Amino acid sequence: MRTRLDSGNPLTEAEAPGAMNKTSTAASLAESSGAGGGERYMDPFAGLFTAASTIPLQPLIDRPHVHRLFESISWGQAENLYGYQQPLTGMSGPWVERGGRRFLMLSAYDYLGLIGHPAISAGAVAAIGQHGTGTGGVRLLSGTAAIHLELERALAEHLGTESALTFNSGYAANLAALGTLLEPGDVALLDAYAHRSLYDGCRLAGAKIQPFAHNDIVDLERHLASFSPAHRCLVAVDGVYSMDGDVCPLPALIEITRRYKAFLLVDEAHALGTAGARGGGTADHYGIDAGEIDLITGSLSKAIPAGGGFVAGRRATLAYLQHVSGAYVYSAGLPPPCAGAALAAIRVMKQEPERLVRLKYNADRLKNGLLSLGFDIGQTSTPILPVITGSNESAYRLARHLFDAGVIALPVIPPAVPRGTARLRLCVTAAHADDDLDMALSAFASLAPSGRC
Ligand code: PMP
Repeated sequence: MRTRLDSGNPLTEAEAPGAMNKTSTAASLAESSGAGGGERYMDPFAGLFTAASTIPLQPLIDRPHVHRLFESISWGQAENLYGYQQPLTGMSGPWVERGGRRFLMLSAYDYLGLIGHPAISAGAVAAIGQHGTGTGGVRLLSGTAAIHLELERALAEHLGTESALTFNSGYAANLAALGTLLEPGDVALLDAYAHRSLYDGCRLAGAKIQPFAHNDIVDLERHLASFSPAHRCLVAVDGVYSMDGDVCPLPALIEITRRYKAFLLVDEAHALGTAGARGGGTADHYGIDAGEIDLITGSLSKAIPAGGGFVAGRRATLAYLQHVSGAYVYSAGLPPPCAGAALAAIRVMKQEPERLVRLKYNADRLKNGLLSLGFDIGQTSTPILPVITGSNESAYRLARHLFDAGVIALPVIPPAVPRGTARLRLCVTAAHADDDLDMALSAFASLAPSGRC
């Protein structure tokens, strides 16, 4: 069957009830700029949504939500507002090239500015020289290389845990940890804003999922009191929240999970390398021994500019994962160049602590600039800066305006964030120069809700 594409504007959502005034102001200002003009975004679908007024829907995907999604994409493309999946022709970094034009990048989570660092690229090349490009096996059988063990020791040492185990992505690490350690009958209490992979890991385990209000210890306690001790309970949170940039209340989480004999998992994907005096993550940020946390998971694709993920914790827990978790036993080991780059990056993080200092300076500078322009940037205290516009359409139009001004800052809409809180999720990095941030701020200033410019 074919779906019609001529419906109105499915990307626009009603403003959330009680949305802040400045959010609404930002939205209406952005909306008043008219349809996305300027250079056309590249079409990642090779005309699928633009060639005709209808597109084919095979029976496999002939479902109402697919119709709605495709209508949204078609509308976004018609309005020149669909700016996702724009292919970069070189390395990511503070400046990128796309379609022969340079753009200031404000949406990449290369927090320490390490993509392309010569020692890290050399680490990847050396690992290829020693081990080749692939492992030729799953870790449990023939796919363990010496460099995996070296990386895992370095990771555990950096995080302050007994041990660490690598996986092919941060997503896979969360599936491995939660999908293996939880069982039907267990209760997983997840922060409402926790990463999708934490929810998916609990679904894989068949555990009962009970979300609690974001960073709200009172709400968490209400749920813990209703489940524990009849059930085994695990609380899972992000250390630094990927869409909001705020930090979890780790001391209170440790205290409450102890008191209720529950377990605690902290996903450090955005905290590793960025939080704490030495970039050790959320425990480092609070000056707490990481051994107080039952499980730490994370990614090797953010401050560490490689690919892969990890689970860190007690040796016995990880020995169990090594024999039972599907992502470890049934999936090939982390490719050597990723392991080599990640290992080199951990060394660079130690040798170049000034990067973390610069990251914090840049985050403050951009944050203060956006605040003084009147933008709503939520509760962030990290290099992740959400510019909350409210409606999806206003986020798309603001992103388009910035793109025309030479800045890439991508919109994030529900369900990745709560309804009515669409935003541009900005990531500042240590590699941004003062001039870069000034350029970004002047692009934002022309649509500032305070109307100052
Ligand atoms: N956890 C969090 C909090 C994340 O933000 C992400 C990725 N954005 C992941 C896990 C998954 O990491 P990876 O990209 O390495 O799969």
